[in-house]
Amino acid sequence: MQEGGSASGKPRETKVTNPLWLNAEITFRCPLHCVYCYNPVDYARSGPELTTDEWLRVLRQARELGAVQLGISGGEPLMRDDVEVMITEAHRLGYYSNLLTSGVGLTEKRIAAFKEGGLDQIQLSFQDSTRELNDFLSSTRTFELKSKVAKLIKQYEYPMVLNVVLHRLNIDHIQAILDMAEAMGAEHVELANTQYYAWALLNRDQLLPSSEQLRRAEEITNQFRARVGNKMKLYFVVPDYYANRPKACMNGWGSVFLNVAADGLALPCHEARMLPGLTFPNVRDHDVRWIWYESPGFNAYRGDSWMKEPCRSCPEKVKDFGGCRCQAYMLTGDATNTDPVCDLSPNHRLITDVVARAQTAGPQVKVQPIVFRDDKNSRRLSEKKTQPESAPVR
Ligand code: SF4
Ligand code: SF4
Repeated sequence: MQEGGSASGKPRETKVTNPLWLNAEITFRCPLHCVYCYNPVDYARSGPELTTDEWLRVLRQARELGAVQLGISGGEPLMRDDVEVMITEAHRLGYYSNLLTSGVGLTEKRIAAFKEGGLDQIQLSFQDSTRELNDFLSSTRTFELKSKVAKLIKQYEYPMVLNVVLHRLNIDHIQAILDMAEAMGAEHVELANTQYYAWALLNRDQLLPSSEQLRRAEEITNQFRARVGNKMKLYFVVPDYYANRPKACMNGWGSVFLNVAADGLALPCHEARMLPGLTFPNVRDHDVRWIWYESPGFNAYRGDSWMKEPCRSCPEKVKDFGGCRCQAYMLTGDATNTDPVCDLSPNHRLITDVVARAQTAGPQVKVQPIVFRDDKNSRRLSEKKTQPESAPVR
């Protein structure tokens, strides 16, 4: 734990603890085109990727600050040919390292090198249990390849960690998804309902399930869990649009999580680069210690002095920190507002209106064509800078 003055020279009101988790988004390149991708919509205009040496410096500096978990993600991290070097260094530094991959590019040669280098875990994502929907949602033919990669992961004695993002189009396949996970010998399965940021926000009306779909999926998951017991750890993450309190986003701004994006931008969460009025530091210009403790961007929403009512006087603020700053900005136009997921927020109708639409519309809402994550769409959307359908309420 460390205390100190802020970049503005004012004394800090909040004790700042060390980062525990470094997420290295080593590239925004990806051969897949997922309709719910969490990469920034305007990723195509981001600057050049950090070099290998720059990444190794970031790993060392974050470890010196106390980070112990390392996520190597993207884009598709295997688009880079220096992942092996990063893994070896991460292992030497004492990180627990986790590679988050779609499986594309994971050859036997590479997985053998990862094992040799000391990689601790591989998290493999599937879009669905069927080839048809897997390939539609990612706009690629990757289902067979992922199935082969799943076998390689077992062969190299990694724990089988599967991630499937759930939404309106695949949630009714939950039984088949769970059966697929069991057949693959999965030990950990994360059924993560889509959270509505970035590309998922653009496609929200196509992706948000109805409450009946959600109820059924949870019921099936619970029955499955009761049957398989400890053989498989199952996480079912409910979409926060169906909650009445927001999530404690990143366990609090600048509290434990440090994200470094492909272009070197250091962020308190994946999405924060969109927030207006904040300048986030780049690891090319500053060391990680200064970034974490001193940079104005990382200090912006620490503590609670920035909060407005109803959060400011709410006893629950110590649990949820007023929710997500990015969601507050995306939906209301002001990052200091209460996250509208909270039913105490004066803007809560921005959530309930969308949820109401999800109940009444047909199985596949055709509000607008579904938008795939690709460079062309990213460039087009960067120019347009579209807002979500809900008008910002200030
Ligand atoms: S969500 Fe899909 S498109 Fe986005 S980085 Fe992951 S695999 Fe690539
Ligand atoms: S008003 Fe703010 S602090 Fe209170 S429960 Fe809602 S989001 Fe959390």
